[in-house]
Amino acid sequence: MQKEAFEKKYLECSNCGYTTHDVLKGRTSKAAFEGVVQCTKCGRVFSTVLRIPKIIKIPTIISDGPVSEKIVTEFEENDIVTVGDEFIIKDGRRLKIRSLDIGDNQRRKNAKIQDVKTMWVQQFDFLNLKVTINDNGRSYSKKIKAEPDDEFIIGQVLAIAETEYYVHAIKTCDRLVTKGIAEGRDIIRIYAKRKRNSSKPLS
Ligand SMILES: [Zn+2]
Repeated sequence: MQKEAFEKKYLECSNCGYTTHDVLKGRTSKAAFEGVVQCTKCGRVFSTVLRIPKIIKIPTIISDGPVSEKIVTEFEENDIVTVGDEFIIKDGRRLKIRSLDIGDNQRRKNAKIQDVKTMWVQQFDFLNLKVTINDNGRSYSKKIKAEPDDEFIIGQVLAIAETEYYVHAIKTCDRLVTKGIAEGRDIIRIYAKRKRNSSKPLS
C-alpha cells in the first residue's frame, strides 16, 4: 500500500539517478537532516545525512528611477546568481537582478553568491510594455502596464484608452512571435493594429 509521505527530499538516487525521495523517517537539526528516505521511482530505501545550506545575506539595492532603497536579501550558500534572475522577497515584491558587484568595482554577469558584495536589483511588479500601433498606415507608440506573468496572445484584442487594437506580432528577447503566446517578462515590444470598427477616435 502506498502511503502519502509527509515530506520529500531532493537528492540523487545511487540506483536509478532519480532525485525525488519520500522521507520515511528523519529529524532535522539546525545543520542537517538525518533520516531514511525512499526513491519515488525505484523504491530504494537508504539512510542519509543532508547538510542544510547556510543562508548568506547580501546587501541589495533596489533602484527604481532616481529612488533607491537598501535591503538585505537571503540566498543559500551554493547559489549561483545571474543578471536577469528573478526572485521574490518576504514582503512579496518581485525583484530582478540588474547587476552583480563582486568588489573592486568589478561587475559580473553571473557569480557565486559568496563572491557578491552588492546586488543591484529592479522591482518589476509591473512592466511598462511598449506597443507599436499600426493605424491605417500611420504608426505610433503607446505603453501598457502588465505583470511579468501576463500572457499575450497573437490575435488578442488590447484596449488602450478605450480604443481596441489587435496584437499581430510580439518581439521577445530572442525572437519575433507571430503565432502563439509570449509572457510579459520576455516582451520587448508588441505590434498591434487598430481594429477597423473600434469606436473611439484617436486622442
Ligand atoms: Zn531510485
